[in-house]
Amino acid sequence: MQIRPTLESKFIMLASVLILLGSIVVNHWVISTYRNQLISEAEIRALLLAQSTAISFTNILLYEELDLVTEGGLLDNYIRDLVADTLSRVQEMTVYDLDNRVIATNDYQRYFQRNSPEQTDTELAVGNDHLIRHIEHNSFEILIPLHISTRPFGTLVMQFSLQAERSKLSAFKNRMFLLTIGIAITGILIAFLVARTLAKPIKHLATEMRKVQEPRYTPKLDSKRRDEIGDLERGFVDMLGRLKSAADEKERQQQALIQAEKLASVGTLASGLAHEINNPLAGIRNCLRRIMARPQDLEQTQKYAQLMDSAWLRIEKVVRGLLDFAKKKELVLQRTDLNQIVKAACVLVDYRVKNQKIMLKLQLAQDLPAIDGDPQHLEQVFVNLLLNALDATPERGTIIVKTKFQHDKVIAELSDTGKGIPTDIQRKIFDPFFTTKPVSKGTGLGLSVTKAIVEEHQGSIDVLSSPDGTTFRLCFPRPATVSNYSRKASEATITDLGD
Ligand code: ADP
Repeated sequence: MQIRPTLESKFIMLASVLILLGSIVVNHWVISTYRNQLISEAEIRALLLAQSTAISFTNILLYEELDLVTEGGLLDNYIRDLVADTLSRVQEMTVYDLDNRVIATNDYQRYFQRNSPEQTDTELAVGNDHLIRHIEHNSFEILIPLHISTRPFGTLVMQFSLQAERSKLSAFKNRMFLLTIGIAITGILIAFLVARTLAKPIKHLATEMRKVQEPRYTPKLDSKRRDEIGDLERGFVDMLGRLKSAADEKERQQQALIQAEKLASVGTLASGLAHEINNPLAGIRNCLRRIMARPQDLEQTQKYAQLMDSAWLRIEKVVRGLLDFAKKKELVLQRTDLNQIVKAACVLVDYRVKNQKIMLKLQLAQDLPAIDGDPQHLEQVFVNLLLNALDATPERGTIIVKTKFQHDKVIAELSDTGKGIPTDIQRKIFDPFFTTKPVSKGTGLGLSVTKAIVEEHQGSIDVLSSPDGTTFRLCFPRPATVSNYSRKASEATITDLGD
């Protein structure tokens, strides 16, 4: 399943990442500031102790030199007491003489050892008031030269423990970690709530926008909001209104175009149908004359009355067909049998078929599913295509109308053995007013209207043409639930249709 990256989820993701990153950075900054503060406080405390100790040690060294002190081991006692005092945090103490020899220390093994060979602590301390050296993670050393004015005595090195600070820091870190997690979770929750609140009207607007395609849609929007979303909603409703009037206008124009094209076809058909009416009329007149010549012959009168009746029915059928075709009608979709539509259209062009001695073959599929269609509009489609095919096909040519059900689509194909459509004009033939026929014959509206009607039915129209003929292929979707199947229709020729 593919998760759609919604505005809401994007906002939450971004806010969460920023909150987490922000929390980590702040956490790191606070901890390192606290660590530096702890260490610098420890250093200041240690320095004060080291400086006061250095003064006392210098005095003792001076008194020893002047033999004012007889008692030995004063420095060692002092050092022992200081190291033993846990509050002092002193771990180790060493006093070096000017030759870098240890003269007092808490670690007796180091007595009289020389100091490090490269650079001695004494050398390091010279010229400095003091020197602080972090020797390892948990401790640091302070080096202080012992002197009175310019007279040096040696160097005092004191190592202090940072254990207490480390413990404080790790407790602080734990508290900060919990605090950061708490802040991050609260932040993400707030971001989630804000995202929901902000996205709600946008989501609602998006849902409404998606519904625009639905028939009889009316927007359910609270345009009273005074923020940007309110502006957006009002803009949308406004745009919808304009779109609707544009669509209504387009629909009106399209209907006018369909009607204009229909009337043009009626004109073409009427000249042909006049013969269809004239012939039976002449027959009726002939019958009447014979009846009038021998009115007493009842048998003959009966026979001619029957002939007149069937001639009359023929006229009525043709005239009704033409009137129905010419009638202006809004598109009304209903379950429609395409085979019946094809047959009705063929009746209207019957005269021209006969006149041009065309072989009109119908290959209509049995059990063709009904489609959702407007019979009148669809009839116009087939009349347009048939008239074009008749215009293009020479005498004794063939026109085949085929219907079939394939890949869940109801398909109708109309092929002729006419002159075909040159490749360079094939993409123009559906443009309104494009025609290759003389002004009196073509309007250039037939195929554009045909395409519009087919698309009104959610269908499609394609053309395949070569110099040997042309095939128009119409594809219509089958309604979602098919309850109505067309009557069985079998292959027939035009001569069967009128009956
Ligand atoms: P009209 O028939 O008034 O010219 P249409 O839109 O029906 O307008 O057709 C446009 C053009 O397409 C026609 O002028 C013709 O050149 C071409 N055409 C349409 N159908 C066929 C066909 N079956 N065979 C050859 N050409 C065709």
